[in-house]
Amino acid sequence: MTQTTPHTRARAEIDLAALRANVRALRARAPRAGLMAVVKADGYGHGAVPCARAAIAAGAEWIGTATPDEALALRAAGVPGRIMCWLWTPGGPWREGIEAGLDMSVSGLWALDEVVAAARATGRTARIQLKADTGLGRNGCQPADWAALVAAARAAEAEGAVRITGLWSHFACADEPGHPSIAHQLTAFREMVAHAEKEGADPEVRHIANSPATLTLPEAHFDLVRPGIAMYGVSPSPEIGTHQELGLRPVMTLAASVALVKRVPEGHGVSYGHHYTTPGATTLGLIPVGYADGVPRHASGRGPVLVGGRVRTAAGRIAMDQFVVDLGGQEIPEGSEAVLFGPGTRGEPSAEDWARAAGTIAYEIVTRIGTRVPRVLLHEEPEREPLPGAVPTARP
Ligand SMILES: *Cc1c(COP(=O)(O)O)cnc(C)c1O
Repeated sequence: MTQTTPHTRARAEIDLAALRANVRALRARAPRAGLMAVVKADGYGHGAVPCARAAIAAGAEWIGTATPDEALALRAAGVPGRIMCWLWTPGGPWREGIEAGLDMSVSGLWALDEVVAAARATGRTARIQLKADTGLGRNGCQPADWAALVAAARAAEAEGAVRITGLWSHFACADEPGHPSIAHQLTAFREMVAHAEKEGADPEVRHIANSPATLTLPEAHFDLVRPGIAMYGVSPSPEIGTHQELGLRPVMTLAASVALVKRVPEGHGVSYGHHYTTPGATTLGLIPVGYADGVPRHASGRGPVLVGGRVRTAAGRIAMDQFVVDLGGQEIPEGSEAVLFGPGTRGEPSAEDWARAAGTIAYEIVTRIGTRVPRVLLHEEPEREPLPGAVPTARP
């Protein structure tokens, strides 16, 4: 077990070897497609820059973010290659995006007008990707408005203001295999792509597959798959399987140093509201992380922690900075490691377990780990990894 250094309250270890292995595993699932590594929301809480670099080292051709600011920050940090971002609001920053060589998603005429104006102002060609709303009902252009958007984009392309580098969309229910919307969205996507190509669009990439579609739906792979959560070794949903079943390695381990162990008598209330009362004389362990660190308060009374060699459950409320576990009389030294979640190789719970305990999805568990928790990068250098096809060595 990794030692907690004495001064470390809590840390999130980021195993970049696991991330690279996940990228290779996802590429093997989509052998004819390229891979866009989605690192929005600071790499789902894992750190966008190191995750983008690790994904590229493992063969990702594209990096994806939600906001342009996220994409620009990656470019400013020196991340090379193609970076796409899709969540634009009026005002841009289109000009900065053009100058940084971003691929910029356009879902409507207002965005096309703004990016064309910015391209004219810079004298450069903007790379745009037209987004189709094939049924998600969120961002993207409705089928009824598609012809007008394509026509305007083609006119801007003829003028040299833009180049249509991609046609793309996003699934509503890919995490529910067999959901009827999946086939409807694929049909709508094929039709919308066909229309744009008939109008002369010649995109480098057509793409619609998020993690669940990458894992379960080969007909959705097209030219590029766009996994986020699976790259971090977390299952998109219980219906798709656990991370073990999917052959993924969780990248983040959230650990804390036990802050206090003490004996308390029977009938002692624990934490705010006294929602837990000791059933007998026992020992309590204080875990110094709370909801300000992203440990969900909704998992009060349920969240699992590996501590003292056993998985214990949060006793009573999870507070802002700390929570308590009932150690059942066990005496462990302060400074012992408490592992909230990790790959499970030492018997610790997973982010998926915390999602179940909190009534949410595992995406939310890893993404919300707070900035107060330092990220500790492990295995940043890829040199010593086995080549594809080599016999895997035992995991640490
Ligand atoms: C977040 C996101 C993804 C990645 O989704 P996962 O389910 O995490 O794989 C892909 N495409 C878009 C548009 C997204 O917003």
